[in-house]
Amino acid sequence: MLAPVHTSLPGKPLQASANQEYSVAGFISHAELVNQMDQLKNSKYADVEVAGHSNHGREIYKVTVGKGDKVVLIQSEIHGNEKVGTKALLNMLQQLSQNDSPEIKKLREELTIVAMPMINPDATELNRRGNEMTWEEVVSKFPELEGVRPSWNYYTYVNRYWDYASNPGFDVNRDFNPNLDYTPKRQDFPGNSARPGWYITPEAQTVRDVYKDLKKQFGNVDVFIDLHHQGEYVIKDTDDPVTLSLSGVFVPDPNTEEGAKYREYADQYQGDFSKQLNVAAYNALQQIGNSPFKNISLYPQDLDLPGTALGSFALNGSGAILFEITGQTQSYGQKRMGQLTKAVETGVLGILDSVATGDVYEIDVEAYDEIPLTER
Ligand SMILES: [Zn+2]
Repeated sequence: MLAPVHTSLPGKPLQASANQEYSVAGFISHAELVNQMDQLKNSKYADVEVAGHSNHGREIYKVTVGKGDKVVLIQSEIHGNEKVGTKALLNMLQQLSQNDSPEIKKLREELTIVAMPMINPDATELNRRGNEMTWEEVVSKFPELEGVRPSWNYYTYVNRYWDYASNPGFDVNRDFNPNLDYTPKRQDFPGNSARPGWYITPEAQTVRDVYKDLKKQFGNVDVFIDLHHQGEYVIKDTDDPVTLSLSGVFVPDPNTEEGAKYREYADQYQGDFSKQLNVAAYNALQQIGNSPFKNISLYPQDLDLPGTALGSFALNGSGAILFEITGQTQSYGQKRMGQLTKAVETGVLGILDSVATGDVYEIDVEAYDEIPLTER
């Protein structure tokens, strides 16, 4: 459907789909997000705006805290079955927008923090990865795509958790393009994972527009943090279950032979800075000392995913950090929700703090390669 048809009742909790056995009621529904955003509007230091709407008309929010000249953009739940990041982000916004401790004040002075919690709310409500949008809707918005094969990230399959056949959608996190002004062209479809996306989904368009506005206003988005979930893994060569994996590498470095196809982005790419930011998150988690928070690993490092938000924004000069929290909700439910939320908050605050103090620039880049790998 094209018109807004969002009819959730205020405060209505999230429910797992009929074929999903785990409860997700402890996570945030879109209606609950709307309530929390309304409350946040009254806080001392937060500026709450509706940045855009999902394909089904649900609000996508942008919350700005701080007046510093370093810009940090953080988003969560681009995949609707990856929910801890939203909880962590809302907890952090409470703190950042009201707390007057010297540490938090310093963050507001040095940084402009822009949080976009739950950027794919139609998927959130369905507890699934893809958004809710048909190829026909794409063609109606971009008539030049008539007769073209649908993009490779268009889901129409059925499995034990989801029925995309009767309710299709796109993996929004393959719809980004490092050319922020790109408009869809016939010859770029159906594409593949090593090719950029097209900005055909309203959710990716909304994030891109916020990114472009920040770039225009500040010259650069210094840091981009994207909060995801993965399956269950152990740390390489151990039996220790991974709490979360980090990464700062999403495309081959444009300054190398392997990354030659990205040469036009070579001057602005900040590969070392991305690694320093990841180490800042890792160190903050190690400092907690308990084993769940110490069990942090690196995500696979041989990616070439220019259609992800992280890949596209890294090529545009942002230091980029991926959080891959353990367990997706369709098969993991809300197990360890409190602990995982705390881990994300700790890692993100570690990044914010190190950028605000400038400590991040002193971090040894090689410490990144000492973060243990994931057994896969
Ligand atoms: Zn994800």
